[in-house]
Amino acid sequence: MTPFAEAAAAKLSRGGRLDPDEALALYEHNDLLLLAALARAAKERQSGRDVYFNVNRHINLTNICAARCPLCAFGRGRDDAGAYVMDREEVVAVARRAADESPDLSEIHMVSALHPDKPFAYYLDIVAAVRATLPGIHIKAFTPVEICHFAAVSGLPIDEVLRALKAAGLGSLPGGGAEVLDDAIRGVICPRKASSAQWTEVVKAAHRLGIPTNASLLYGHIETPRQRIEHLCKLRAIQDETGGFQAFVAFPFHPDNTGLPQLARVGAWEDLKMVAIARLVLDNFAHIKAFWMMLTLPVAQLALAFGADDLDGTVAEEKIIHAAGAKTGTSIAREDIVAIIREAGYVAVERDTFYNSRRVWGTSDNG
Ligand code: SF4
Repeated sequence: MTPFAEAAAAKLSRGGRLDPDEALALYEHNDLLLLAALARAAKERQSGRDVYFNVNRHINLTNICAARCPLCAFGRGRDDAGAYVMDREEVVAVARRAADESPDLSEIHMVSALHPDKPFAYYLDIVAAVRATLPGIHIKAFTPVEICHFAAVSGLPIDEVLRALKAAGLGSLPGGGAEVLDDAIRGVICPRKASSAQWTEVVKAAHRLGIPTNASLLYGHIETPRQRIEHLCKLRAIQDETGGFQAFVAFPFHPDNTGLPQLARVGAWEDLKMVAIARLVLDNFAHIKAFWMMLTLPVAQLALAFGADDLDGTVAEEKIIHAAGAKTGTSIAREDIVAIIREAGYVAVERDTFYNSRRVWGTSDNG
């Protein structure tokens, strides 16, 4: 190991905070097992042997998108084959069926494209209708990028968009659309969606209004390892200021059917390094997700040894990642998530959106 990477590892062991150069030295040193040991120790200091998941249902309201980002395989033009928009009744029917089929459902997760014509009232109406249909279920919906879009189509300030959604029943925001918080990168992979500053403005406004969010990173396209680390440091600084992030999730870029088909999907080595370095840099985040659907189940399970403490949820249907070539299933049974957590020697904790425990499966009982 280089003396610098060694000093960074020693600093972590003393409970110190990595600066960008130290994080990069550890990352580029490429000792996967050292990263695993450091990240696992950091995870276990935060949440012991617990590993979380929830029973949720994704709903993607529309794929018709004004932005048409090169990174995306989901967005469509209005007249393209496969373009769709769900109306309120369809969304309510899906939500009701999800609750009927999964009595333990705790969260509806809605993210969509940036529809060029739908007014803000369409989204408010859907949130209110889902809230009225399933009053006990948490609604996590709309990335910060979608919130910027609602502000643009409605002419309302970000704060007012968020207040109106909260009043209609929205409980939290997912962290998508952050991609890499670097506008030169965004200019290539998603030139027409919210800038780094706008993404940041929305999450800070949400946190001020008592709306927690997640945070994300899309890696494995044109960004460098240093830009990944700088992105993590930006998230850490926001969290120092607001404390409003619940969890971080890193998404590997899937190139199929996107405008960047020349790129290859990074390998499991990189996936595991990303999980570990995120856990080490984001020392003020309680939870690091290994989203099984993005990573595949085997890699997500391995990620539990690299600092992840959350596998996301049962999902039940997902269109965005699969449009880009993800070969994972679109749902997983609760028993299967529990089994892979227990096989890794951890305690499976079924959680609500706020990480309150709803049910616990230990490592050796059936309970
Ligand atoms: S990433 Fe989002 S904003 Fe960009 S094209 Fe896809 S759906 Fe639209």
